[in-house]
Amino acid sequence: MGKPTGFMDYKRQELALRPPQERIKDWEEIKTSSLPHKEELQKQAARCMDCGIPFCHSGVMLGKALSGCPLHNLMPEFNDFVYQGLDHFAYARLNKTNNFPEFTSHVCPAPCEGACSASLAGSAVSIRNLEQYIIETAFAEGYVKPNKPAHRSGQKVAVIGSGPAGLACADQLNKAGHSVTVYERADRAGGLLMYGIPNMKLDKHLVERRIKLLEEAGVTFELNSEIGHKISSETLLKQFDAIALCTGSTVPRDLTIPGRELQGIHFAKDYLHSVTKSFLDSSLQDKKAVSAKGKDVIVIGGGDTGTDCVATAIRQGCRSVKQIEIMPCLPHSRTADNPWPEMPRVFKTDYGQEEAFELYHQDPRDYCIMSKEFIGKNGKVDKLRLCQIDWQKEAGRLIPVEIAGTEQIVSAQLVLLAMGFIGTETQLFDEFKFARSEANTIAANDNDYMTSIPGIFAAGDARRGQSLVVWAIAEGRGAAAAIDKYLTAVK
Ligand SMILES: Cc1cc2nc3c(=O)[nH]c(=O)nc-3n(C[C@H](O)[C@H](O)[C@H](O)COP(=O)(O)OP(=O)(O)OC[C@H]3O[C@@H](n4cnc5c(N)ncnc54)[C@H](O)[C@@H]3O)c2cc1C
Ligand code: SF4
Repeated sequence: MGKPTGFMDYKRQELALRPPQERIKDWEEIKTSSLPHKEELQKQAARCMDCGIPFCHSGVMLGKALSGCPLHNLMPEFNDFVYQGLDHFAYARLNKTNNFPEFTSHVCPAPCEGACSASLAGSAVSIRNLEQYIIETAFAEGYVKPNKPAHRSGQKVAVIGSGPAGLACADQLNKAGHSVTVYERADRAGGLLMYGIPNMKLDKHLVERRIKLLEEAGVTFELNSEIGHKISSETLLKQFDAIALCTGSTVPRDLTIPGRELQGIHFAKDYLHSVTKSFLDSSLQDKKAVSAKGKDVIVIGGGDTGTDCVATAIRQGCRSVKQIEIMPCLPHSRTADNPWPEMPRVFKTDYGQEEAFELYHQDPRDYCIMSKEFIGKNGKVDKLRLCQIDWQKEAGRLIPVEIAGTEQIVSAQLVLLAMGFIGTETQLFDEFKFARSEANTIAANDNDYMTSIPGIFAAGDARRGQSLVVWAIAEGRGAAAAIDKYLTAVK
């Protein structure tokens, strides 16, 4: 512990975001481009108390709630190294547990900070910003090198899917000496890091920078290669000693109300994919992106994906944007059933809402709203009929009950469905014939990540269900360790 009184001497400071008025005019990162001065970050690191039991790095499930970092990052150690100005050591510590700190430091909701002891009587150590400082300094100073193995095992592994789970799995297996080929059906690698999370939240150069490093380390990427479509599972099973399925949880939840067939109603993931692809291919000049320009946009779903849709529609020049959610608004502070060190389930205003507020002078969100019907004009969606609901308990279950007299019709020429995902695509089950979990994901246990077919493993959202980037990296690492053990045993 660098400075025993640091947590009392210094206040928490977070990396500033660019002002909403400025950032909505472009697609660049919402964060300011330069990190705060090194001395300021050393003060932030000095706030760490080097707790005897550092809950920040525990990464355990307390019932259904996550507490601490699933990667078990060594926060007290790297915080201390930053405080001492030993950036190289800080990077070495971070690199031990996290393959891609440049991703998590941008997009992770930081369960570590929710579990930080300093947050009990004040505010948490700004761990995520420190992580960003460490990794960006490491890149700038040339500490980050391709992880080339000293020798090759002669065994080959196919990783299917290049999201954070697939990339972490590939990185770990390659380091262990196995020859890894990553198959990705999209035209760019990165999974939802590339085509889900928008550029302003995670600059795609950061994803490309990491893919290049993996290639330099010896990982092969086969893009535009869909398993089960262009390449059969039989071909793969003949060619490889093990297979890791990191294909994500890509089936979106639909809203089957009257009018669903109308044009102009899109799943959020398809909308966001189209915009990022057009942005990367042609700086949006090819006009292939689904456009919100001049439209009243309704985003159905109050989560982070919905927020990304709000921010994207604003940048496209929508006329108005609303984000509606069927569940009630979260409380403004922790409730008794969500104590520290659980990840807090509290109301937050994210970048998209901040931007909408700036433009339209009101929060775009509305809670306890049920959509009843899409109303069309010339085959295209034009309005949405909705009502307010009350959640009432019936036979021990909460059910939505319409509040009489609250029905209204709102203008909507673009509707984006951001209501989460319901599991793995059927085609993969048909192709590989492995067992399915109750949650419609690939059944594989927590210890060895093996599916019902020996030699075939699953990790990330494909196994866990829709989750977080940090979990996907943790799962990719876990599956890689299990595959390495399996390959060593069969050798
Ligand atoms: C819009 C959006 C925003 C998000 N924002 C955040 C955030 O801010 N922070 C956070 O922590 N999490 C966020 N998430 C969740 C996070 O992105 C996921 O949990 C994470 O990416 C899962 O990683 P994965 O590797 O398991 O799967 P994915 O990232 O989904 O990658 C799976 C890959 O497999 C490929 N694939 C699928 N089937 C095949 C096949 N048959 N053959 C070849 N390739 C195939 C897909 O094309 C895809 O590239 C967000 C999710 C969405 C949708
Ligand atoms: S819980 Fe907070 S104060 Fe304690 S070691 Fe972790 S980061 Fe430092």
